[in-house]
Amino acid sequence: MKQIIHLPPVSHTEMVLPNADWHLGAVLCCDARLIFLLLFFLVTATSVSGQSCGSHGVAMQVLGSGGPELQDKRASSSYLIWEDGRARVLVDAGGGSALRFGESGAQMSQLDVILFTHFHVDHSADFPALIKSSWFEDRKRSLPVYGPMGNDFMPSTTEFVSDFFGDRGVYRYLSELLVPGEQGSYRIQPHNVQGTARPATVFRAGNLALSAVRVVHGGVPALAWRVEIGGKVIVFSGDTNGNGEGLPQLASNADLFIAHNAVPEGATGVERNLHMPPSVIGQVASQAHVKHVVLSHRMLRTLGKEDQTQAEIRKRYSGPLDFANDLDCFPVQ
Ligand SMILES: [Zn+2]
Repeated sequence: MKQIIHLPPVSHTEMVLPNADWHLGAVLCCDARLIFLLLFFLVTATSVSGQSCGSHGVAMQVLGSGGPELQDKRASSSYLIWEDGRARVLVDAGGGSALRFGESGAQMSQLDVILFTHFHVDHSADFPALIKSSWFEDRKRSLPVYGPMGNDFMPSTTEFVSDFFGDRGVYRYLSELLVPGEQGSYRIQPHNVQGTARPATVFRAGNLALSAVRVVHGGVPALAWRVEIGGKVIVFSGDTNGNGEGLPQLASNADLFIAHNAVPEGATGVERNLHMPPSVIGQVASQAHVKHVVLSHRMLRTLGKEDQTQAEIRKRYSGPLDFANDLDCFPVQ
């Protein structure tokens, strides 16, 4: 079983200095206390920096492990990929994930790219909050955003971004981020990805390569993403009912496969048309020979059914299997 680190939010209270009077007394009266005080600072500094996910090597941190229901007490879908202490790739930005992003210790100026699987609310609602936060950071380089094409019911990625930040967008007061000719800001660079039946590479820079494949999620244009970084492979199913061969191909030999546990075994109708049950997750994991499965997008209809879910997956896949919680950190060995 690979290591999971359960991380509390990075807390500034741990950096609060000891009582000032006690501090003064230690300095004046007692060398032993002074030494203790110095040790206290050293230990505190170590524990604070040690909370950061992915400080060495590659790691995937779950920012949101829930679905759209607020009663699941989880942020909605969002994941962060760290490399050597830097947050490099954000996948989806569901409601609550902006708070988790801050709690993780990440900064928007660190990101190389943002990916969207699709534009349902529980995968995208905190995007403007994240972008606004970046306003207070010193980001100079452009920020690529990749996501699906649109249709009659859903915006394309370029429409999604411009509907927020274009010169007629909801948040047009931040249009400097998007509109050519305005000065003083970095630029958001949205790209529509024509999801194909077979995986296709859409971005490559340095040690980072991103591939996508079209997946079936009812009538919603949706992508699954493969992130290759530092020689490691992390694959996100996004929301899909699992139909087709694209997802197993995309997930081939992945070090980490994040699958969405949105419906229990036996689901029917609309639920099943949108999401893959545990048996299908197990089938994809087995077919793709993935090395570790993480189940996320946990909803009220699957929470509490972990034993049943695991049993169904185990009929087809026998490797490491974990249920995600917000801020869990999965180092990729
Ligand atoms: Zn969805």
